[in-house]
Amino acid sequence: MTLLIDFLYLLGLVAGAVVLVMLLTGLFFEVMNARHPERRIQKNRVNRRKWKELRQAPISILTLSACFAFGLFAQRQGWSLVPLDLTWWSGPLTLLVSVILYDAWFYWVHRLLHSRAFYRFHALHHKSVAPTVWSNHHESFAEALLNQAYYAIIVFILPIPWQMLVLQKIYDQVSGMLGHAGFEHFASPAGRTPWPLASTVFHDQHHGTFRFNYGHTFSFWDRLMGTLHPRYDDTLKSFEGSEQGSETAEPRSSKSR
Ligand SMILES: [Zn+2]
Ligand SMILES: [Zn+2]
Repeated sequence: MTLLIDFLYLLGLVAGAVVLVMLLTGLFFEVMNARHPERRIQKNRVNRRKWKELRQAPISILTLSACFAFGLFAQRQGWSLVPLDLTWWSGPLTLLVSVILYDAWFYWVHRLLHSRAFYRFHALHHKSVAPTVWSNHHESFAEALLNQAYYAIIVFILPIPWQMLVLQKIYDQVSGMLGHAGFEHFASPAGRTPWPLASTVFHDQHHGTFRFNYGHTFSFWDRLMGTLHPRYDDTLKSFEGSEQGSETAEPRSSKSR
């Protein structure tokens, strides 16, 4: 019973922190998007579904918080691998390994979610063809569970210090929302060939086409598996410098989704 109360206490803390980071990140992008309308990725498609998207956020946040809290809890109870002491090398190294592992996890879970048998769990997330910063939490319980189970499992595989896991979760939260912002604010050569980082255009093209760009932080798996959008590099380049957005992501008709 005490265990359950301890876990629920931790879950409450995690969920509260996730909501705080979500609101701050969301407001930041709302302001940035309003200030820079020229950075809109899908020029002729405006998403007016943000309140509908937000209605799904409690289920998504509760699920991801439970997975993450379980990982931390298992580590604190000594059920998992004994984490390394946090040092100048163990912290960055385990964080980097975990980010790379999560990217692989996300890619393959995402490919699975696009299969005939599993798409029913992912269809909700794809209702927004032009995503908004709030689309990140517009997902079903099953999809959130499949994606976020990583944080419940990784502590049994990698001796990552809890502080690094918290850093990764914050990064994951912010970058997940960045990927759905709908506006490319941080276009840079680091996001295209030969560099492996993904950008907002990257995930935006996934929503726009349904069949490319399944990765999260890196474009590595998509390049390797041949699922990278053929115009990804060129579109991202068009948002750099003064040419901002001269080439749209998708030549779609004007609809509000
Ligand atoms: Zn998808
Ligand atoms: Zn998405």
